[in-house]
Amino acid sequence: MGLFKKKNYIRINPNRSAEQSDAKKPAVPDNMWAKCPNCKRTLYTKDMGAEKVCPYCSYSFRIGAWERLALTIDEKSFEEWDNDLRTKDPLNFPDYLEKIAAMQEKTELNEAVLTGKATIDGQELGIGVMDANFIMGSMGTIVGEKITRLFERATEQELPVVLFTASGGARMQEGIFSLMQMAKISGAVKRHSKAGLVYITVLTDPTTGGVTASFAMDGDVILAEPQSLIGFAGRRVIEQTIRQELPEDFQKAEFLLAHGFVDQIVPRNQLRETLSKLIQFHVMKGWK
Ligand SMILES: [Zn+2]
Repeated sequence: MGLFKKKNYIRINPNRSAEQSDAKKPAVPDNMWAKCPNCKRTLYTKDMGAEKVCPYCSYSFRIGAWERLALTIDEKSFEEWDNDLRTKDPLNFPDYLEKIAAMQEKTELNEAVLTGKATIDGQELGIGVMDANFIMGSMGTIVGEKITRLFERATEQELPVVLFTASGGARMQEGIFSLMQMAKISGAVKRHSKAGLVYITVLTDPTTGGVTASFAMDGDVILAEPQSLIGFAGRRVIEQTIRQELPEDFQKAEFLLAHGFVDQIVPRNQLRETLSKLIQFHVMKGWK
């Protein structure tokens, strides 16, 4: 009599807690998927590779200073400079120093730029890497001081300088003291240049404001990563000032290359090799 046969229902244990049942769900890690800010497609993060590049549009995702350093220089060749400098609060800006402390913990940097000496394929250089995760890579007094000292030491030691820029511009919390850094750094860059030494900038996403208006554009050779945002003021401000509509991509690296502001756009996976060759061309034995 199949009709009266006991059916095999799934048994539910009423004493089982919600926590236990959650533990059996397949876990999806938070960082498994990413959305490309340039082409807006959703990507499987593993497809971006160690360089963190969008496989569809070659947009180079923002990376921290330490990650950038690891992709660029010879392993264990880095000697950090000026990581003991500490930010002050000249305007008594509310919560500023607390914010700095939180950023220091998050990024493992003392400020929004990492500077020092390293080698690429055995060739010595002074290197600076800005980090957009540290208050948008904004340029305060210590960022300005670290970059100035990078150029001064490089001049003394006759080293080329490679500087990766990533910045929202001057640091609002330090007001005029931030703006003063532009002239100070440009002076140090000029003295480095007069000593016959080469300075290469790599503009990464985003490079804007006072950084673009000073040392980012002072390089002897100016490279940029694909699809990077590079500009001075925002679109709306410019449109309202000049009363003209601007092209869609007017602040993209590709537009700047077409108009002569950038020398070459280099995909992230070719940057190390390109920098190595450029240093080799400019730093020959017996000639700076
Ligand atoms: Zn993309």
